[in-house]
Amino acid sequence: MENIVVMGIRGLPLIRAGDNIAAMICERVKVDDGDIISLASTVYSKSRGYTKPLAEITPSERALRLAKLNGEDPRFVQAVLDASQDIIMEHPFILSLLPFGHIGVRAGVDQSNIDDGMVIFLPPDPMKAATEFSDEIREITGKKVGVIITDTCGRSFRRGQTGHAMGWSGFTAIRDFRGDTDLFGHELKITEEAVVDEIAGFANFVMGESNNGVPAVLFRNCPSWIGHDNLYFTQNEDITRRLLKTTCHS
Ligand code: GDP
Ligand code: MN
Ligand code: MN
Repeated sequence: MENIVVMGIRGLPLIRAGDNIAAMICERVKVDDGDIISLASTVYSKSRGYTKPLAEITPSERALRLAKLNGEDPRFVQAVLDASQDIIMEHPFILSLLPFGHIGVRAGVDQSNIDDGMVIFLPPDPMKAATEFSDEIREITGKKVGVIITDTCGRSFRRGQTGHAMGWSGFTAIRDFRGDTDLFGHELKITEEAVVDEIAGFANFVMGESNNGVPAVLFRNCPSWIGHDNLYFTQNEDITRRLLKTTCHS
């Protein structure tokens, strides 16, 4: 029997800039070697101060134009533009490329689970964030855990948001099945399983979206896998991005 254990970590306070989330988690759960901790990007960003009051943001001409186009606060739109490396689509919502490779609605800038009038940015380097978080856990406990920094994201083609991995540490993003054979001996030529997104998806289910207060989820006894880290399509590979970029600018 595969017996994967999934634990939502309860009892964490509202996270503020400067909080040591790794220490807070270790006070509440006994981590073990090989555990995987999924951490909501929202709380990571709050702990590191990747937040901003809207009142401190002056919208540019472009922000004013897009705010009018999409019916949003121009200061919020400016925050989205500031977080974006490239705008893939302007309307009916902004879709952005972030410097770390992720493409997301409104650049993943959030206004929920933070004080009124504040925005939360995704961590600028979620891979580094995941590695540092794993190092902090190791310093406290001596245990080596994998880490996934998650965000809730929409998807193309389907209604509904799911958890996605923004950064990870301790394993590869992809489990590569190419070259493996199925139950009938056929060689798999295409299958690359985005394991970090699958785990992020389940973690997101345990977290919930609103006032559940569970920003971290621990997985135990996950099987290990091998593959690679090329989770994000390059510009040439990404058909959707190319089409949107050429058709969805006003
Ligand atoms: P995102 O998916 O990273 O944008 O984060 P969400 O806003 O969806 O929050 C994910 C989970 O973390 C939910 O269960 C929230 O209630 C919880 N959460 C968000 N901020 C805090 C916080 O400061 N403290 C605690 N204890 N939970 C939080
Ligand atoms: Mn979010
Ligand atoms: Mn969420």
